[in-house]
Amino acid sequence: MQTISRLDTLRHAVTLLKSGGKTLALVPTMGALHEGHLTLVRTARRHADAVAVSIFVNPRQFGPNEDFDAYPRRLEADAALLAAEGVDIVWAPPPAEVYPAGFATSVSVSGLDAVLCGAARPGHFDGVATVVTKLFNQVQPDVALFGEKDWQQLTIIRRMARDLDLTSPRADAILGVPTVREADGLAMSSRNQYLTPEERAAAVALPRAIAAAVTALKGGTPAAQAMADLSAALLAGGFSRVDYAELRDATTLDLLDAPGAAPARVLVAAHIGKARLIDNAPVI
Ligand code: AMP
Repeated sequence: MQTISRLDTLRHAVTLLKSGGKTLALVPTMGALHEGHLTLVRTARRHADAVAVSIFVNPRQFGPNEDFDAYPRRLEADAALLAAEGVDIVWAPPPAEVYPAGFATSVSVSGLDAVLCGAARPGHFDGVATVVTKLFNQVQPDVALFGEKDWQQLTIIRRMARDLDLTSPRADAILGVPTVREADGLAMSSRNQYLTPEERAAAVALPRAIAAAVTALKGGTPAAQAMADLSAALLAGGFSRVDYAELRDATTLDLLDAPGAAPARVLVAAHIGKARLIDNAPVI
């Protein structure tokens, strides 16, 4: 495994790999790796001959009052985990390598970025779309993997990749991987470490309230009622604020009054302690 921090070295390594005829998968991450990330890596290995994992805490996707400085960084431990998974390339550039002085370009996926986390975190998805475009150009992957935990992000990247012809024509070029959860159902997240033991125990209210909402929706409860009940359950269960709890079309992210024929998802973001947690589930 090569851990690379300079773009020219990365380009050389990718050229070498591809000249040997190997296909390459990319797993973009911000590090502080857990089983969710490692599941993406294991899935990647089944879809390509070689796997590159990027580790980059992207300043452009954090708002001014968000946790960019506090975000956990532990490259050495992450690299050890990835070496054990048989990863070929770890791409861990410093910010100046990604955003040289005078950097002036931004990628925006309009519409999809105006709702949900985009409404609560202005500019967040421009930061995500911009860095993912750069990562695709740098690593030139045949396939890239993203977690369904960040459903809106996955939707936006799929649209962007299609709109900008960013990836190979493979049908699985952007692969979504189901959310990996702790034993009690809480979605794994690098941000769970911000929680005290009491908050961590209370956080299980999030997947439970989503599951209850899915059951209610399937039983015919209107979305407005199911989402109000969901929010109330979170606030009663120890969450301090709900950014959103909504039923939306899984692809267009259009707001729905009730699940219909097209795939729909319940999506939630809520605050507990110092953490803002997100989660979502399909209504099928
Ligand atoms: P992050 O490091 O949080 O930016 O996440 C990097 C990638 O891992 C993103 O595609 C996430 O959606 C994905 N991911 C994070 N947590 C999970 C999880 N619990 N299950 C599956 N994928 C995840």
